[in-house]
Amino acid sequence: MKQVKNGITYTPESVVIDSPRVVQQIRFISKNAFIIRFNRDNLQFKAGQFVAVGVEPLQQREYSIYSGEKDDYIEILVREVLGGNVSQQLKQIEIGQSLLVSGPLGITTINEEDINSKRFVFIGSGTGISPFHSFITSYPKIDYTIIHGVRYLSEAYDKNDYDPQRYVLCTSREKGGNYYGRVTSFLLDFRIGPNTLFYVCGNSSMIYEVYDILRKKGVSMGSIHSEVYF
Ligand SMILES: Cc1cc2nc3c(=O)[nH]c(=O)nc-3n(C[C@H](O)[C@H](O)[C@H](O)COP(=O)(O)OP(=O)(O)OC[C@H]3O[C@@H](n4cnc5c(N)ncnc54)[C@H](O)[C@@H]3O)c2cc1C
Repeated sequence: MKQVKNGITYTPESVVIDSPRVVQQIRFISKNAFIIRFNRDNLQFKAGQFVAVGVEPLQQREYSIYSGEKDDYIEILVREVLGGNVSQQLKQIEIGQSLLVSGPLGITTINEEDINSKRFVFIGSGTGISPFHSFITSYPKIDYTIIHGVRYLSEAYDKNDYDPQRYVLCTSREKGGNYYGRVTSFLLDFRIGPNTLFYVCGNSSMIYEVYDILRKKGVSMGSIHSEVYF
């Protein structure tokens, strides 16, 4: 049955709404970014989907699932937004406390038949790397390149989880990554091979620019998938 909550429409029967989950682990990966792990139970999802998470009823926000399809827990990567409501509440949460979780939601997933036949370029800004972490954890044989755009080196979240040959860190405010500048500048000179699908995730202005660049390079709309965070 169709249900609307916090402006989000929930339709499939597999979606759970406001299910209480218990925080099992919290891992800070920078001063203001952290990974929350909670129990998975009956939550079935495809890598690339997200959940709505909050501490109080009617106060939930969307977070991409960071963990893999086969993990027996769910993880999300959250960055505290200054002045933000839910991300600040999540930063204060402690192990053993409850979260209200709804989901899974979203359609920015990978078709099974493409996993072994296509190349993938994942382009993310900030926490927009989260669904890509789920992709590579879920599909270890996938042929991927990740282009991660951040301001500072400290925002290269869990970079050791990625194959260094397949991971490009673009830092816009300090040197020391693989490329000094924004992901969009890096992309201008990026050589695009055949049979490639693009997944773009993060802030909307970056996503619009990436679409423009890729379209000018001849990439079809159908080969570009995106998830806008804000
Ligand atoms: C599909 C989807 C998936 C998302 N996945 C993630 C995720 O994996 N990790 C994650 O940390 N966030 C993710 N977000 C963003 C998240 O849902 C919240 O918007 C964010 O945590 C801020 O919520 P808040 O209640 O703290 O701030 P609010 O009180 O809701 O708003 C504060 C302001 O901050 C802006 N804002 C939101 N996110 C950011 C940001 N990252 N940087 C700067 N400004 C921002 C909002 O547009 C708003 O103007 C996702 C959003 C969507 C739509």
